Amino acid sequence: MKYIDEFRDSSLVHRLADRIRAAASHGREYKFMEVCGTHTMAVFRFGLRDLLEPNIKLISGPGCPVCVTPVEYMDRTIAIARLPDVIITTFGDMMRVPGSRSSLYKEKAAGRDVRMVYSTDDALDIAKRNPGKEVVFLGVGFETTVPTVGASIITAARQGIGNYSVLCAHKTMPEALRWLVADSRHGIDGFLLPGHVSAITGMKPYEFLAKEYNTGCVAAGFEPVDILQAILMLVNQSKPRVEIQYKRIITPLGNRLARSMTGMVFEKCSSVWRGIGEVKDSGLKIRREFSGFDAALKFKVKVTPAHENKVCICNMVLKGVKTPLECRLFGKRCTPDNPVGSCMVSSEGTCAAYYKYGRR
Ligand code: SF4
Ligand code: SF4
Repeated sequence: MKYIDEFRDSSLVHRLADRIRAAASHGREYKFMEVCGTHTMAVFRFGLRDLLEPNIKLISGPGCPVCVTPVEYMDRTIAIARLPDVIITTFGDMMRVPGSRSSLYKEKAAGRDVRMVYSTDDALDIAKRNPGKEVVFLGVGFETTVPTVGASIITAARQGIGNYSVLCAHKTMPEALRWLVADSRHGIDGFLLPGHVSAITGMKPYEFLAKEYNTGCVAAGFEPVDILQAILMLVNQSKPRVEIQYKRIITPLGNRLARSMTGMVFEKCSSVWRGIGEVKDSGLKIRREFSGFDAALKFKVKVTPAHENKVCICNMVLKGVKTPLECRLFGKRCTPDNPVGSCMVSSEGTCAAYYKYGRR
């Protein structure tokens, strides 16, 4: 298949749903986690849950970087935004993520210089055009985004753009999956691995899922046929395996060039995931050689202890333990226009998907 329509072909979609029904044992329940926010959105958008028998449950995971960015990080960003002569640059989603008391949107409305950019090149440009100001880019995202942020730091170093820095909260997926699968309460039978992240990482970092935790996984594309085919592959695994459905994009070894760019600039560290807490080795920090571009070192701001809305259950939603429907604020005090928690902010957050496309 070459064209997008073919991956949305309804007869193919229904045939795959029939094959899943036929392949699944009727006496058992399957719980598969779609790790990535883009998968969650596609599952809702194309009504895929409704095509599956009730014994196949799809649960949403922590695969939206916006959703898992901790409140402390937002508070630090806001504190930096309030310093004189600072320009904060970021991708759009981050503007609405609630911190303890404010958000970047509110700060912008209050007169701080917060700018939405479409690439790190835009942020570098702003730095070049404003030599009297400090330009901070919000480094948030998984393996797919990190290489371009790394490249921006290398460019800034080469071109002597000393007024550019990155506030780094990058995260890596395999360690988060280890954390999820190690907790037997989640009872996950298999993972739909994020297609774009896997295109960078390759499949090796996920082998532990099958070997150590007896849990299968399939790296999947984002169209309905991709997702259903990946579910069928998971159901058909007689023995847990690490497989690729999204072969038109992913190779087993991933993208070496992107990984080497990441390795030049970043090194592993523990990282706090919103709703999950600290996960060992699941983050990336800027290496010492590039510390001049590390906004956390450049700006010594004081941040008061963070607090979250106590009624919001984003933490449970992100772990796949509860659904948004179990949250008292869902659709009432918490909507995409007025998000209380991070899962309602991003267009690909689980609560936003439930809100937009309905639920099961
Ligand atoms: S909403 Fe943005 S940050 Fe979240 S998964 Fe989608 S693209 Fe990534
Ligand atoms: S509905 Fe809103 S408040 Fe409730 S868990 Fe989701 S984001 Fe948090």
